[in-house]
Amino acid sequence: MDSKGDIFVLSAPSGAGKSTLIKRLFDDLDRLSFSVSFTTRLPREGEVDGRDYFFIDDAAFDDMLAKNGFVEWVQVYQHRYGTGKAWIRDRIDNGFDVLLDLETDGAKRIKEKFPDAILIFLLPPSAQSLTDRLRGRGKDTEEQINIRLEYAKHELECWDNYDYLVLNEDLESAYQGFKSIFVSARTAKKRVAQAVQKVLATF
Ligand code: ADP
Ligand code: 5GP
Repeated sequence: MDSKGDIFVLSAPSGAGKSTLIKRLFDDLDRLSFSVSFTTRLPREGEVDGRDYFFIDDAAFDDMLAKNGFVEWVQVYQHRYGTGKAWIRDRIDNGFDVLLDLETDGAKRIKEKFPDAILIFLLPPSAQSLTDRLRGRGKDTEEQINIRLEYAKHELECWDNYDYLVLNEDLESAYQGFKSIFVSARTAKKRVAQAVQKVLATF
């Protein structure tokens, strides 16, 4: 493999459209891996263990913590979420881009540990549209929706920690902007330098 992959972190208030964009990106791009987090929250309808999250109970989460098994973890929306260790480095060394879907504190911690990580923040157009999307998704209780809306302002205030800001008003333009970040990273000098040497060697 010629070049190493990059680490991308996507954050946004819950309901802003992260999962929607991520799903589409995986249909479009190859050599991309999703970092499946561990969580103590219960699966939503349609979520699959090992694909969307590793759904574990509190005792298993405590056990992983005791074994120092997380790169970072957080308690948010009354549940715990954590990124498992070891796997990210292996993926990027094998030329895969790795995408993490993290709230803002976790994103900051990843940037501290992997300074080259590319941080992307997805913005909803307004508080009202975020509320409508959370209700429209129809998969959280009203209590959970309120908890998520309360945390949204804290998340939005962290926008300055990010390298890219994508406004998700019109889904199609948001997706094109989002995808272009991944596509252009693949033509960065550090990613193509070895291939250039091979071209030069033919002259
Ligand atoms: P997140 O993963 O950030 O919590 P989702 O991807 O589940 O958010 O999106 C929340 C809801 O908003 C879903 O029902 C999704 O279909 C809808 N949605 C996403 N983007 C848009 C958009 N640009 N316009 C309208 N609805 C959207
Ligand atoms: P949800 O319950 O809606 O799937 O996710 C709740 C929030 O937790 C989202 O903002 C998501 O980005 C974040 N999240 C998911 N996994 C992790 C993780 O491993 N670490 C951190 N810090 N945040 C996570």
